[in-house]
Amino acid sequence: MTLPASVVAAVRTASTPVCAYVYQRQALAAAVAAVREALPAGAGLLYAVKANGHPEVVAQFAGRCDGLEVASGGELALAVAAGARRVAFGGPGKTDDELAAAVRAGAVLHVESVGELRRLAWTLGQGARWPGGGRVPVAVRVNRAGGALTGSHQMTGAATPFGVDEAQLGEFVTAAGLAPGVRLVGFHLHAVSNSLDAKAYAAFVREAVAWAGAAAGQHGVDLRMVNVGGGLGVDYAGGERFDLGALRVGLAGLELPPGVELVFEPGRFLAADAGWYAAQVLDLKRTHGRWFAVLRGGTHHFRLPAAWGYSHPFTVLPVDRWPYPFARPQVVGVEVDAVGELCTPRDVLTRGQRVDRLRVGDVLVFGRAGAYGWDISHHEFLRHPKPALIVV
Ligand SMILES: *Cc1c(COP(=O)(O)O)cnc(C)c1O
Repeated sequence: MTLPASVVAAVRTASTPVCAYVYQRQALAAAVAAVREALPAGAGLLYAVKANGHPEVVAQFAGRCDGLEVASGGELALAVAAGARRVAFGGPGKTDDELAAAVRAGAVLHVESVGELRRLAWTLGQGARWPGGGRVPVAVRVNRAGGALTGSHQMTGAATPFGVDEAQLGEFVTAAGLAPGVRLVGFHLHAVSNSLDAKAYAAFVREAVAWAGAAAGQHGVDLRMVNVGGGLGVDYAGGERFDLGALRVGLAGLELPPGVELVFEPGRFLAADAGWYAAQVLDLKRTHGRWFAVLRGGTHHFRLPAAWGYSHPFTVLPVDRWPYPFARPQVVGVEVDAVGELCTPRDVLTRGQRVDRLRVGDVLVFGRAGAYGWDISHHEFLRHPKPALIVV
């Protein structure tokens, strides 16, 4: 992978030993523009903050997308601080305080169960008010009987903790009709993580829209919104791309009932390519026939490859500085495992990547680390210093 000049410059000026995330504003902007072009005119585009909650990244997306999707009180606070024009609040296990804060922030609430709906209504009874006045807009997250898509995680069409089982939707709609202060405006149908098949994704969206129209008719819902969630995928280890052109073709001519907005809320696809994780090689060694490059860094900063069990490719950034009076260790034309500084054999970012030359002191740069990188990692394990977080 070719390293952008701005990323190289940031890594070269980082303090040593180098351990840094570099986020590129320009790449964030490009991803938003590319996704927008693939979506039908008038569709809403929210950014799912959990993919990368760095305040500057969130601010960029707040300015470029229609709004932000958040799933905790912490993310809600980030979205409000970033000046998001619209906020959608989702996720299972919302507390009373989070529900009240989301109401006060003017968010649309993606409600996950009848129990949560009742607590929301109770919260309104305790004094939480939606800023615009009027009733709080709610979309019910539905775990449909069908509607499954292939990807890394499946959320719907299977037993998961997410949403209301389609078979219990009538019960939810009845409860919403009885809940004071709440207005059911539509359905939230986030179904998958990391789908790489754009054609299948487009078919899922079409089917979700048709399903929503039929379900609204059946249950007497005044449909205003169909949120199909995120899930646009990134192929980290291979060369596959989620084909936005195929998505555009697949969604062309999609008709929504009048007054109904189609909403997307991707995280991974918008943020992945804008992030780079750089870690300097502290040691090179060979045990039992394998070469290991030991990094100042590891899975406590970039857990994704370990969490998903794949090898994340890196690019070697040569560093000439060698301050020691002894010979510089190096390997030439061998396969190395890129491993971290943790005392566990699971601290592996890459297995068996061939390098032309690698020296102690060079920096390994891992691309496509902008989503679910730093944010999902177990930072406190072993208490090493955190990476620098640099935005260029
Ligand atoms: C995680 C999540 C998203 C974003 O998913 P990506 O795979 O990052 O696009 C969107 N909506 C909900 C409800 C989520 O949980």
